[in-house]
Amino acid sequence: MLKNLLDTKHCFKLVCGAGNEEVEDIKRLVYIYAIAGCRFFDLSANEQVISVAKEALNLARVEDAYLCVSVGIKNDPHVNKAIIDYDRCVNCGACEAVCPQSAIHYAKVKKTKCIGCGRCWKVCSRAAISYVSEEKDLKEVLPSIIEKGVDCIEFHAMGVDEEEINSKWQYINDNFDGVLSICTSRGKLSDEGLVDRIKQMINGRKPYTTIVQADGFPMSGGDDDYKSTLQAVATAEIVQNEKLPVYIMLSGGTNEKTAELAKMCGILYDGIAVGSYARKIVKRFIDRSDFWSNSRVIEDALEVAKPLVDSVII
Ligand code: SF4
Ligand code: SF4
Repeated sequence: MLKNLLDTKHCFKLVCGAGNEEVEDIKRLVYIYAIAGCRFFDLSANEQVISVAKEALNLARVEDAYLCVSVGIKNDPHVNKAIIDYDRCVNCGACEAVCPQSAIHYAKVKKTKCIGCGRCWKVCSRAAISYVSEEKDLKEVLPSIIEKGVDCIEFHAMGVDEEEINSKWQYINDNFDGVLSICTSRGKLSDEGLVDRIKQMINGRKPYTTIVQADGFPMSGGDDDYKSTLQAVATAEIVQNEKLPVYIMLSGGTNEKTAELAKMCGILYDGIAVGSYARKIVKRFIDRSDFWSNSRVIEDALEVAKPLVDSVII
């Protein structure tokens, strides 16, 4: 059971990306991290993505892993996709150079790869990049996703539209009786507002059936230093101080230093979810055309992935 994994207080979750629907990349990511010891995987709410993740687990001969799918509200950054206005774009290549997903080629965005991280928007001097929100209609996607067999649904409750948050959360609660995860941050809420939202969302749920994913800065990871992970630790502290009957998972800017910093700060987390940094360190191996045929590629990928997983599970 997923609860047993969370009860170890050393749960490492690999975040493949709520908007990442590039199935071959996901298969490789799940395969590497499963062999490295990860047992909890966060995926886009997409049937094909779930199927390839399961295939990767079979290939890695891992049977005791758990899957989570992520869904969001409109304009949640995790479900945004970059679009380019060609009346403004001068094809300078700056966006392509910073995209962590290699989602841009010659000023064209490959939607299945884009995770809405915002890096391209920040560097575009021509203000040619904007975003479209691709939040999913829960009533359309959830029934088939649940039928496919997932252990957890993560709801990205970032934003201020209380009505949308409440109605979607209610729908998820009414239709799924497994572990639910609330991913939220202080980005648009005060500390008090964050705590109030969590309390409201867990009201009526059984103790320890909810994960609160304390997101520092969503999708900000990439560097392996204390500064990148500081906000995740700070957000977790706010949740921890409330002594709520929830599992606490750090995320957003997490890296190999997160567990160490959290322990130094007295944060008693149950798990750490790592996305941007985990994907970045194995990207050069994932991108290899001989990934499946050259065992050396996977051995080299494991050399960088395993210390990250071990930093949490040991
Ligand atoms: S950074 Fe802006 S101007 Fe340059 S290629 Fe990208 S979209 Fe076009
Ligand atoms: S930089 Fe981020 S938002 Fe822009 S295309 Fe790449 S993944 Fe999408």
